[in-house]
Amino acid sequence: MPGDTPELPAKDLRTLIPEYADLARETILLNPEPGDPGVRESSLGGKLLWPADEPWPYCAQEDHWTFGSDPSNRTEIVPGAVPMVPILQLFARDVPGLEFPEGKDLLQLVWCALMHEQDPRLLVMPQLYWRNEAEVVAGGLLSEPPGVSEGEYDEDNMPEPSTLSPTTAEDYPRWLDLPKDMEETWERRLRLPTGRAVRPPDSNLIGTKVGGWPAWTQPADWPDCESGHRMEHLLTITGDIQLGDCGGVYFFHCRQCPGLPWDWRFDCH
Ligand SMILES: [Zn+2]
Ligand SMILES: [Zn+2]
Repeated sequence: MPGDTPELPAKDLRTLIPEYADLARETILLNPEPGDPGVRESSLGGKLLWPADEPWPYCAQEDHWTFGSDPSNRTEIVPGAVPMVPILQLFARDVPGLEFPEGKDLLQLVWCALMHEQDPRLLVMPQLYWRNEAEVVAGGLLSEPPGVSEGEYDEDNMPEPSTLSPTTAEDYPRWLDLPKDMEETWERRLRLPTGRAVRPPDSNLIGTKVGGWPAWTQPADWPDCESGHRMEHLLTITGDIQLGDCGGVYFFHCRQCPGLPWDWRFDCH
């Protein structure tokens, strides 16, 4: 019975298995709080600093759908392209631990708040943008990004506008994110003097965060770039929005390749 297995305190685990301590990475927890963030502030679900000369992104999937106002009517098709919604905006000054590409100091993320057919890869259709704040401001801002009509989108897929109060913390991989051989060699060290096995604690931080380790709710699924490099975890969005049954949306990028290729994953409970 896994429930009967005592859990080892995290500090004891780091003493028993020093290699585990070596896996510590700094993460930046974004700590969103509902509020009214401005366009020049880091935010979750807030207004984005968007260049006037760049069209607002639309999701062109023709058959996205919404649960609509009637929960029993789950296939209310929304025909045609719809505007993406702001998800995250991070200014370099607020997240000093996040390395920006040269000349960039603003990271933005949008996605489509509708549902997309059966293919889970099409759940949210995210887009990432790296920008230079001063350049955007100098060129003028898009005055009215296309709005979202009341009740048109799935609110589960849209974060409530929130300000961010980033803090740093030590993060560890989910137990399911460890290489199998590592886990096996540790197993015999994870026993009480009586021989009884103890359950290793999970010191992975769950929350919307930058860097650190992904807060997977399912077995890890790290993407590789086209050149075969395993990508680095860029950020996790979880816990603050419901995303249907989903646990989180995870973003990765490869800093070894030009153009900073990126990919994303999501998982469900
Ligand atoms: Zn869509
Ligand atoms: Zn690469």
